[in-house]
Amino acid sequence: MLELRPTCEHCNKPLPPHSTEAHICSYECTFCTACVELLGNVCPNCGGGFIPRPVRPSTNWKGDNFLGKDPASTKVRHRPVDLAAHARFAAGIKPVAPEDR
Ligand SMILES: [Zn+2]
Ligand SMILES: [Zn+2]
Repeated sequence: MLELRPTCEHCNKPLPPHSTEAHICSYECTFCTACVELLGNVCPNCGGGFIPRPVRPSTNWKGDNFLGKDPASTKVRHRPVDLAAHARFAAGIKPVAPEDR
């Protein structure tokens, strides 16, 4: 199950479960829209691309699969990216489409 982390890992902006600004990589590293652009759509932890995070329903539409039973994580992972180091890391990755990395 997705962890639904509470903030952007770089700028610590709140990203509540219903946020349409939350983006994740395949490891659930979580960044806001502005930081995904800042990072050139290269995850600083794994080099993968980002996609918008799905919104977990807040309503129990079916089988207790909703936020009320599976709430978002409250564990903040604020690890600001060293942008100079990221520029070097991402230089060779950015030109490669995420699906080809
Ligand atoms: Zn951010
Ligand atoms: Zn990642």
